Amino acid sequence: MCPEVLKVNCPNCGREVVRARPSEAPFFPFCCERCKLIDLGKWLDEQHRIEEPLEPGAGASGGA
Ligand SMILES: [Zn+2]
Repeated sequence: MCPEVLKVNCPNCGREVVRARPSEAPFFPFCCERCKLIDLGKWLDEQHRIEEPLEPGAGASGGA
């Protein structure tokens, strides 16, 4: 019986990540917690940009 070994490259730094068991790689498919957080930050940053409201002249009134 051979164990289920997964071999991937870290999406953040490209380092080879070998996972023998899910419990051995808590940050899979990332190589470490740092890479996972960095990649997460990228996604959050992109979402933030998309959700950014673009309404020029909002609340600009007065005159007459
Ligand atoms: Zn990495």
